[in-house]
Amino acid sequence: MFFAFAFALGLAFGSFLNVCIYRIPRGMSIVYPPSHCPSCGHRLSPLDNIPLLSYLLLRGKCRYCGARISPRYPLVELLTGFLLLFLYAKIGLKLDFLFYLPLVACLVALSFIDIDTGRLPDSLTLPLTAIGLALSFLPGAISPPASVLGIISGLLTMYLVAILGKALFKKEALGGGDIKLMMAVGAFLGVGGVFFSLFSGSILGSIVGIGVMAKKKENIIPFGPFLSAGALLYLFAGKFTLSLLGF
Ligand SMILES: [Zn+2]
Repeated sequence: MFFAFAFALGLAFGSFLNVCIYRIPRGMSIVYPPSHCPSCGHRLSPLDNIPLLSYLLLRGKCRYCGARISPRYPLVELLTGFLLLFLYAKIGLKLDFLFYLPLVACLVALSFIDIDTGRLPDSLTLPLTAIGLALSFLPGAISPPASVLGIISGLLTMYLVAILGKALFKKEALGGGDIKLMMAVGAFLGVGGVFFSLFSGSILGSIVGIGVMAKKKENIIPFGPFLSAGALLYLFAGKFTLSLLGF
């Protein structure tokens, strides 16, 4: 019963994240105006806005102008649905669920914004860091000192990687957005989370990066989605993964 609720909550959150992913890089408000078709501008009725179901019922087309709706919308909804389902399976009905909710939601939004624009907006990463630190004062997940240490380690580690990367490759390998993203990850997941995310994110990024470069001849791929995937891996299966590696 609660599993279904967590999944439905995730779908609804995913629907909201789609709005954020589209509007935040364009400097638009995320609450006004109400959703409309990006193609014909027709305002969407609540019936056109049901996560996942509307896309299936409309067969991926706008009800008013017939323009194709990107399959990424239901994909983001499904992804967020599954992430909250995993989060509930891992944590259960505890305060910690609400603690990790902003982190998971923002990691999804930031990843897709980074894919679209190559940027991780300060308007998301900085408030997320502050929220992580503020929530650490609640009992449970992480203590305030551990959260502060996480933020500092995120900042220093990424700063060091950025300097090293610049010296080695003679170009910006890391953006300021990546540094702030890892400060936010540190605020929620502590020093361990920072190192785990950076390490696993780099491995994932290299594997995918080699594939992308071979295919598209592009030498820049956004790092944010891989760091985010590393942070989620740590959150859901960090201890398990480390035990597999013999730690
Ligand atoms: Zn339309």
